[in-house]
Amino acid sequence: MPSPMERPFPGRERTNKMPNVSLNESGPSTDCHVAVIGAGPYGLSAAAYLQDAGLGVKVFGEPMAFWSERMPRGMLLRSPRVASNIADPRAALTLEAYEAATGTQPVAPVPLSTFVSYGRWFQQQLEASLVRTPVVNVARAHSAFRLTLKDGVTLTSRRVVVAAGIGAFRRRPEAFARLAPSHLSHCYEGRQIADFRGKRVAVVGAGQSALESAALLHEAGAEVEVIARLPALRWIGQHSWLHGLGPLSSLLYSKHDVGPVGISRLVAYPNVLFRFPLSVRDKVRTRAVRPAGAPWLVDRLASVKVTTGQTIAAADSVGKEARLRLQDGSERRVDHVLLGTGYRVDVSRYEFLSTSLLATIRQRDGSPVLAVGFRSSVPGLHFIGAAAARSFGPLLYFVAGTEFASQALSSHILENPLNG
Ligand SMILES: Cc1cc2nc3c(=O)[nH]c(=O)nc-3n(C[C@H](O)[C@H](O)[C@H](O)COP(=O)(O)OP(=O)(O)OC[C@H]3O[C@@H](n4cnc5c(N)ncnc54)[C@H](O)[C@@H]3O)c2cc1C
Repeated sequence: MPSPMERPFPGRERTNKMPNVSLNESGPSTDCHVAVIGAGPYGLSAAAYLQDAGLGVKVFGEPMAFWSERMPRGMLLRSPRVASNIADPRAALTLEAYEAATGTQPVAPVPLSTFVSYGRWFQQQLEASLVRTPVVNVARAHSAFRLTLKDGVTLTSRRVVVAAGIGAFRRRPEAFARLAPSHLSHCYEGRQIADFRGKRVAVVGAGQSALESAALLHEAGAEVEVIARLPALRWIGQHSWLHGLGPLSSLLYSKHDVGPVGISRLVAYPNVLFRFPLSVRDKVRTRAVRPAGAPWLVDRLASVKVTTGQTIAAADSVGKEARLRLQDGSERRVDHVLLGTGYRVDVSRYEFLSTSLLATIRQRDGSPVLAVGFRSSVPGLHFIGAAAARSFGPLLYFVAGTEFASQALSSHILENPLNG
């Protein structure tokens, strides 16, 4: 069997805080012990913990591809600095450590370009093998998994950790189905903001992606209108005084700052939230990540037209224009429609999961049903990141969740050998 292209990583010195164990799992011999699909914050963090535990890990994918290719240039991170660390078991590869190592000026909010470079630097510190070629198929092979890469190479692994992010889950509401492809894009694709200079752009949505894209488009010289279903735009941090109460504030909000007062504390304990009934978890999740913009966008959007309380009833392309009909009967003619309509987890949209494997993954409305250790109903198959948010709560949507996810995943794998 040909071996995939690999690039050896510069090693970093081991300390002896964690045992370098080898797992005593019986079963077929495989090319690696754990295959991690996706080299974003979750995949890289998981690899750091798993390699530290002495497991043979391969990470698949271009490091930080989603952040470098799919987010608008000039974007600022919404998460605070302290919640923007990609976790590693020794807390040695923090954002601060990256800045110190590279002479990067620490600033808040964190610029996208800094975060992308930080993630790539993090990856370079790992010993785990990186295979940049994407995985196109994962299938069960006896009691292991067979992975096929885009270049046709195949390899086997005892376990697979899916850390493939949200790119596959972008939502395109049905109302836009009749627009010509050239008239429509999702924020996921809208990175080349400068291309819209002088163009009329309708941005649909009221979340951070939509609002930040609208601000960047406006600043790039586009004529922008934000159209949102909400009765009014919401802004994060409306009660900023609650953050300035010293020790009392830390009782109200966790350092991750995901969710409003009180809920923020609960969200910080995914293993506690996991034990709540699904209906409660769903309520907490929905409340914690409801559409809202970061406070620094308020001024930047001050001269942008915003229409709230309106849904798009119909959309079609008329010659060179996109025509939108709003619920109130009014019409808009624009050059382009940018959807900031978010993402909805549906693992069947991970095209690399074979049909037969997908059929054996227990799901609820598209989310995999997960147990402790992020394990799915298929032995040896784990999901981390946004795909795990329905089970472990909204922290898993954010970089701040990497610490919990990687710790829980690696402990579970070490303590629960697969047999057979
Ligand atoms: C506009 C925007 C702004 C955001 N801002 C923040 C923020 O400020 N702070 C924050 O914490 N979160 C933010 N998020 C959420 C952010 O997406 C997640 O925090 C983060 O990306 C989760 O990391 P991940 O590793 O799960 O996913 P990703 O970063 O998406 O990484 C997954 C990777 O897997 C790769 N992949 C997918 N399929 C395959 C395959 N078959 N083979 C190989 N590789 C594959 C993808 O290309 C991708 O690079 C933001 C999201 C958006 C859309």
